Amino acid sequence: AAPEGGKHITILHTNDVHSHAVENKEEMGYAKLAGIIDKYRSENPDTLLLDAGDAVHGTTFATLVNGESVVKVMNEMGYDAMAPGNHEFNYGWQQLVKLAGEMKFPLLSANVKQADGNRLFKPYVIKEVDGVKIGIIGLTTPETAYKTNPKNVEGIDFAAPAAEAQAIVNEIKDQVDVVVAVGHIGQDKSSVDTSLKVAQEVPGIDVFIDGHSHTVLQDGLVGGNDTLIASAGEYSKFLGVVDLYLDENNDVVSKKATLVDSKEAADIQPDADVNALVQSIQAEQKPILEEKVANSAVNLNGERENVRAGETNLGDLVADAIRDVSGADVALTNGGGIRTSIPAGDVTKGQVISVLPFGNQVVTLEVTGADIKAALENGVSAYPEPSGGFPQVSGMTFKIDTSAAAGSRVTSLMIDGKPYDPAATYTLATNDFTAAGGDQYTMFTKYPQAGMFGSLDEALISHMQELGAVHVQADGRVTSADEG
Ligand code: ATP
Ligand code: ZN
Repeated sequence: AAPEGGKHITILHTNDVHSHAVENKEEMGYAKLAGIIDKYRSENPDTLLLDAGDAVHGTTFATLVNGESVVKVMNEMGYDAMAPGNHEFNYGWQQLVKLAGEMKFPLLSANVKQADGNRLFKPYVIKEVDGVKIGIIGLTTPETAYKTNPKNVEGIDFAAPAAEAQAIVNEIKDQVDVVVAVGHIGQDKSSVDTSLKVAQEVPGIDVFIDGHSHTVLQDGLVGGNDTLIASAGEYSKFLGVVDLYLDENNDVVSKKATLVDSKEAADIQPDADVNALVQSIQAEQKPILEEKVANSAVNLNGERENVRAGETNLGDLVADAIRDVSGADVALTNGGGIRTSIPAGDVTKGQVISVLPFGNQVVTLEVTGADIKAALENGVSAYPEPSGGFPQVSGMTFKIDTSAAAGSRVTSLMIDGKPYDPAATYTLATNDFTAAGGDQYTMFTKYPQAGMFGSLDEALISHMQELGAVHVQADGRVTSADEG
């Protein structure tokens, strides 16, 4: 409870919802989250609601309308601020600026910069709650620079989060009582920038609401400079709750974090208005998503650990579709761009969009055989570890020599049934993400795009329609062996 004469402020938070808008098992969906939020607000009117990013992309609920549906729902829920995550850039930064204009709350990021050095979004906002001035600073992972299609962040720089947070803390510290960072930064050990690092390097952040690594911090954790770090997992499985207690001088005397999950919220009713809004959006989308576009006699395998670590029948099918629509000699598409499986039976448009949700375009490049080989080497460099860049191919076959070092593992590369010629020029079809150097396919960036052939999902639909009932099995175009 609040100390004598003191104050109690509640900060509710979400992150990495990835447009899992609808209740599904332990995923609560927005209406249920809003029901819990209603309850906290009725118990304590001094409540803020923040989102730490990766909200507007991930399911057809969002991707069908470039994220606008999620913004409508978040407006209805009364969010106070949000930080953009890497996935917020998936429709291009211009669309994110448009979405920010539709938000009834500020989209905050101190470290997203334009070419002229100016910030793309407001870096912070100051909210007054029960007479307490709270500075809220937004931050975005610099990994966005290579985790989204490079064209989505053209002309945008991601400055070091700690340095930018420090600059804002210096700027506002005399005007505020409490500093909250809301950051899509995360705690992955592989990342150079983590929320732990920001807390360590920037004195004066009372609470860090984190996202990106999908970390479940049941009781938060105390980082450097006594910063309380809180993170609510992923996919609306948790609502984060931070309680701040302040004394009569508005100094923080104690703080704690916890998470509410679907079990604890079992008796809480979904918020009626948010529920109605989510349902009306779903009803609008239903006819589009349920349109039957093809039929598959077999399960099409797009499981993350399979498409990122080897050939699958769905990988083959997507690569064949790209080659087919473009008439290219060969095709290559990154396994990480294939996001789910399709079970045998009728295939709907919604399922196809769920497999290929990025709105990628099919493009062709006139490339040398040597660069095709280099591309495949890049794609299998982590093999057998799964990695987003694993190449699903068409029009070519090759082996991965698991005893060889990365960079010289691709053997027996055949194009059109003949050994490839490093000096020859081939027409390669791929998606615009890899063509722009995504997943480290940097060997492609020097080539101008020779042709554009519509979106990947449309290509997959027409290819499946041509095949009639789809019977594809992975046909061994990519194999591996220890040749050492
Ligand atoms: P999160 O941010 O939620 O942790 P993430 O999407 O950043 O997830 P992964 O699920 O590992 O992390 O996905 C990254 C992979 O997704 C990339 O390596 C790439 O293969 C693929 N990918 C990302 N954006 C695109 C895109 N626009 N087009 C095609 N593939 C993409
Ligand atoms: Zn995420």
